[in-house]
Amino acid sequence: MNIVESNKSQQYIEVEEAHGAHNYHPLPVVLERGDGVYVWDVDGKRYFDFLSAYSAVNQGHCHPSIINAMNGQAKTLTLTSRAFHNDKLGAFNKYITEYFNFDKVLPMNTGAEAVETAIKIARKWAYEKKGVAETDAQIIVCDNNFHGRTTTIISFSNDENARKNFGPYTPGFIKIPYDDTDALEKALQQDNVAGFLVEPIQGEAGVYTPSDDYMRKAKELCTKNNVLFIADEIQTGIARTGALLAVCGKCDCQGHCERQETYSRPDVLILGKALSGGAYPVSAVLADDEIMNVIHPGQHGSTFGGNPVAAVVAMAALDVVKDESLAQNARKLGSYFRAQINEYIETTDTVVLVRGRGLLNAIVINDSEDGDTAWNICMRLRDHGLLAKPTHGNIIRFAPPLVMTMEQLDECIAIIIKTLKEFE
Ligand SMILES: *Cc1c(COP(=O)(O)O)cnc(C)c1O
Repeated sequence: MNIVESNKSQQYIEVEEAHGAHNYHPLPVVLERGDGVYVWDVDGKRYFDFLSAYSAVNQGHCHPSIINAMNGQAKTLTLTSRAFHNDKLGAFNKYITEYFNFDKVLPMNTGAEAVETAIKIARKWAYEKKGVAETDAQIIVCDNNFHGRTTTIISFSNDENARKNFGPYTPGFIKIPYDDTDALEKALQQDNVAGFLVEPIQGEAGVYTPSDDYMRKAKELCTKNNVLFIADEIQTGIARTGALLAVCGKCDCQGHCERQETYSRPDVLILGKALSGGAYPVSAVLADDEIMNVIHPGQHGSTFGGNPVAAVVAMAALDVVKDESLAQNARKLGSYFRAQINEYIETTDTVVLVRGRGLLNAIVINDSEDGDTAWNICMRLRDHGLLAKPTHGNIIRFAPPLVMTMEQLDECIAIIIKTLKEFE
């Protein structure tokens, strides 16, 4: 397949590649503007965004109330560092802890930093509260996890591409199969386990959606063994999967659920991405006092973490989620999307399956894992005005902004099916 980029986009791509490290392989499209579910390229062509910056843009591109909050604060005070107080951090701390129903928050910037923060908290908790011998603490993680790109985090990845030649690796992690409570139960037998770090749905691995009761059972096993249940909801959280948190299952409790059967409340909750609606890097770790209070001054921090721009942006972004009922919309549109794609799958050999929850979905293309059909489909989707990207070889993730309407989704489904038919 031979797709020619416009001269104009080609020029942008060339200058980027000539002077930037080649640590990404983007789809060849150069975007210059975004609004809601749409983005526009440098030639003025409009696309539906079906990646949402890896679910950072759940609230839609350039949401006016988030941008207003950001602009207003940017003109007033941007950064004090935590050497001094600022007049927005307290409001943010109160807002987010009430929103997600935890005692305390620790604000950071990127997702990987928040994961690192959670790991540090869990280890310190294990030594100081659980009585694990110092330097012995283990954290259980899952095969095919994605938690970010730092040297410690890639140490427990099993993606060779993410790991190879970046060693020596950080010790202290036990890897078990995902969605396997027997393996978890076995790993929890050791008495030096600090935490179980898990994605409620494995997004980067290809939107692997575990059995319905996996989170609940995992939480129960952790509680029974005095081990912290650490949910990485950086991609799944903040309404993406049709609930405020993916560990929330099916209801609209906004994290306040009393129904234990649907809410496996994490001991440590990690958020990022859509916490700012894509406007600014904001991440956070939430936990109750008996856990968070192991951190004392000087033991952890970040120059930009908790800055006043981040604080007001995050509050505005979380307001949008409630005001516009994004969890409910994601749930409704998501089940419609999967039903429509499933109807098409009945008629074809091109697509093996569609899976996901809410508006975090993926289709598996009938091709080998290192085949190029998925990439070629994404190129053709682009030509038809819809942007998506393979997560791995033959898997394409579909994750539009949650502000999408049913009419827009119908238009997108038509584009997707028309494109897939061209590959039959
Ligand atoms: C994106 C992501 C991260 C890392 O976030 P960054 O902001 O890229 O550092 C961690 N965990 C999950 C589940 C993610 O999707």
